[in-house]
Amino acid sequence: MCGIIGYIGSKRALPIVIKALERLEYRGYDSIGVLVYDQDKKIVYLEKQPGRIQEFVKTAQLDKEGNLAIGHTRWATHGGVTKANAHPHWDCANKIFVVHNGIIENFQVIKNSLVEKGHKFRSETDTEVIPHLIEEFLKRGLEYKEAVGQSLKIVKGSFALLIFNSDYPQLLVGARFSGPLILGVGDNEFIFASDPTPISLIAKNVIYLDDGEVVFVDKGGSEAKASYTIESFLGHEVAVKKGVIDFEIKEADKGDFPDFMIKEIFEEPLALGNTLRGRLILQEGRTKLGGLEMIEKKLRQIEKVVMVACGTASYAALVGEYFFEEYAEITTEVDLASEFRYRKPIINDKTLVVAISQSGETADTLAAVKEAKEKGALTIGVVNVVGSTIARTVDAGIYSHAGSEFAVASTKAFTTQIADLVLLMIFLARDYSEYDISGNSARYSEYDISGNSARYNPERKSKERKMSLVMGRRILEELNQIPKKMRVVFEDAEKIKALAEKYARCKNFLYLGRKYNFPVALEGALKLKEVSYIHAEACPAGEMKHGPIALIDENFPSLVLAPEDSVYEKTVSNIQEIKARKGKVIAVTTAGNQDLEKLVDDVIYIPKTLEMLTPLLSVIPLHLFAYYLAKKLGRDVDRPRNLAKSVTVE
Ligand code: GLU
Repeated sequence: MCGIIGYIGSKRALPIVIKALERLEYRGYDSIGVLVYDQDKKIVYLEKQPGRIQEFVKTAQLDKEGNLAIGHTRWATHGGVTKANAHPHWDCANKIFVVHNGIIENFQVIKNSLVEKGHKFRSETDTEVIPHLIEEFLKRGLEYKEAVGQSLKIVKGSFALLIFNSDYPQLLVGARFSGPLILGVGDNEFIFASDPTPISLIAKNVIYLDDGEVVFVDKGGSEAKASYTIESFLGHEVAVKKGVIDFEIKEADKGDFPDFMIKEIFEEPLALGNTLRGRLILQEGRTKLGGLEMIEKKLRQIEKVVMVACGTASYAALVGEYFFEEYAEITTEVDLASEFRYRKPIINDKTLVVAISQSGETADTLAAVKEAKEKGALTIGVVNVVGSTIARTVDAGIYSHAGSEFAVASTKAFTTQIADLVLLMIFLARDYSEYDISGNSARYSEYDISGNSARYNPERKSKERKMSLVMGRRILEELNQIPKKMRVVFEDAEKIKALAEKYARCKNFLYLGRKYNFPVALEGALKLKEVSYIHAEACPAGEMKHGPIALIDENFPSLVLAPEDSVYEKTVSNIQEIKARKGKVIAVTTAGNQDLEKLVDDVIYIPKTLEMLTPLLSVIPLHLFAYYLAKKLGRDVDRPRNLAKSVTVE
């Protein structure tokens, strides 16, 4: 959460930092703060206030000169949303300034001891201990770099930090431990940022920092070239990790849409198409996932899949659980990452841990990956942001290619994550290599394409995956049609808008679905909560009678996912149970099925597809419903209250 930014170079720093903060605001938007250092006048200029960047640029004095600046957009963890708690924070002598993303878990102990030593604190934040701690070490006679290193060793928790000391005005310091921070390297100028989005303002080349690393960027004198050094405050070897960012800036534009959320919902077909591009080998019913090739041998030996994720990504994982077991016949579990890391999961070197995260920075998911690696599991990332920490931590990965998601509530990430999981499942299920006992890869043409299983070698290994060529082809051909079918759902957008407006006065909603559509119910309810602040809960339709049905009355509508699938009749019985109690029902069903018209209050239709792929279509009306309902209530859909994208704290 929170965005941090720092610039040091020869340009005017403040406009760059403000522009960067606009791009980072989706990460947290409680308050904004900036610091600029004017080298000529030797003055530090600082401005901070609660509220959004739009108000900040109107009211703050932003005409200051200076080639060094840092900025912060906050998502409060410690202390209310006030001017005093906004970043930067500084020491008693007004010299050392810090912006921070994360939580200093041992701040209270450190603060108590610093207060005893006479330090005066101005805020309630955990962050403020850092400048005072550095100041304390300087008082004890340490060199500045040493004082920074010692302080970083003492603080516990998660952080990405930028530190500026006006006694060392040519230096900008960045450090991280479990918080995201990237250094962009331009032509004699440097930019630090929490994610790649603002880096592209000045640089394409980046340095990825690892946990425990601190970077000292030195602007040099008037003649000297700017340079940087990376050290480890934990004492590990530093191997500089360079990368290149090829980021499409125009994506940060809403185009003709009023909000990013609706733009991103309408982009779901396009994003899905990008996810699939170049990865389907339709003739062979197989998938080509370049990122997995180097671990393919190990992948073929796995016996269990554990998916770890949070929020919307965990619902994509739940959809995956159904088709991994049904089609790849691999035992599959889904764990919320925040729980996985604190229980004792039974995993070993035959377990594949799949970490799903849009940002690739989700703190809990990252911690789960580390835990899994320590236990010897093979790890794969299903991540959207290229070069993000999870993408760099896992053994191999599949990028979602959803494009940048700026709205806080995730939409196109959900559908592309499901598609990635379908590709992974087929990659595992259509395993030919094990069938070939001669040592060479088997020839696909040897298999019977007319029916189910191929003419396998009778001596094939017992752990072979089960999917036939025909089934592989069928799933991939249908998956390839989904973007087109999604567009058909969008033809009903106006109707869904009218429905959302009709139900906008309801205070509660129940979302129901069975099998593949149970996770879709969870996603629909979460989306509604996130952007409209209306209470919604989801449960498997079959579970309703074990409790939630007590809630039903004429003012408590249910949104029921009832496509014509293997559990359709069961779901219809649940609808009957709701209707018998005078509950209103909005149903999502398959086009051509008129039967529900008489039974329910409102029906939304989706095109027919394979049962396992229905979530990719049935979720679209739910995304639209949540958006339109929130708009009707006048909510800030792109920046819902209390939320932030990229949850980088526990
Ligand atoms: N813990 C710090 C605070 O509450 C930083 C939070 C953030 O990441 O924005 O100010």
